[in-house]
Amino acid sequence: MAEFLRLNPQFKGIGFTSQRTRDRMIKRLVEQGIKNTQVLDALSYLPRHLFLDEALAHRAYEDTALPIGLGQTLSQPYIVARMTELLLEIEPKKVLEIGTGSGFQAAVLGCLVPEVWSVERLDPLLEKARHRIKNLALKNIKLHHADGNFGLEREAPFDAILVTAAPKEVPPSLFQQLAEGGRLIVPLGDEQQMLSVFDKQDGKMIQTDVAAVRFVPLLPGAQK
Ligand code: SAH
Repeated sequence: MAEFLRLNPQFKGIGFTSQRTRDRMIKRLVEQGIKNTQVLDALSYLPRHLFLDEALAHRAYEDTALPIGLGQTLSQPYIVARMTELLLEIEPKKVLEIGTGSGFQAAVLGCLVPEVWSVERLDPLLEKARHRIKNLALKNIKLHHADGNFGLEREAPFDAILVTAAPKEVPPSLFQQLAEGGRLIVPLGDEQQMLSVFDKQDGKMIQTDVAAVRFVPLLPGAQK
């Protein structure tokens, strides 16, 4: 855990953004079955309200997905926690997130993994996320404007890849860019989606379905 998150008064918040409000969210996550204390710590210390527009900041610690503009959403805390927990099981050193959005999931990963790359197709969202991550001084997170359907070839291989938008099928580049022993976590489907984990073993992908979920679709192409 980055020590500065504990120390910087800016991140303590007041009222609806206070540590007490965050503690209530953590209590709920534990009740929902989140066990990894590193994940709980990161979610306890990260100022989720700073990843939302001001008008929605007061809802930041509710158990719900929230809009972040341009038709996109920040996932509910439970989903962020569960996906991060699944990712940490393989103790990755270098991870790729597809779909930076607000930057919150990337920030959670940045607290727990040495090297984090995240790509986003919508430039305005990426610029806001860049600003937030810079303010938090999470220097191990690199953001990139790109179409995540093609992963991030020049930085591959990754120990883990976390996809936070739903494709109908896994883009082949993501399998290719995963290291041997690596793990891909991805919501798959259209209306009905299944959060799936793929482990790369002896060059083969072994699939495990985790839970029904609802994400925005993984779309083609990067846009200004
Ligand atoms: N992880 C984000 C939430 C993601 S919402 C957070 O913590 O806030 C899904 C994001 O995926 C959206 O911002 C959407 O623009 C992005 N996205 C959709 N298709 C994409 C693609 N092909 N490449 C990169 N990003 C994509």
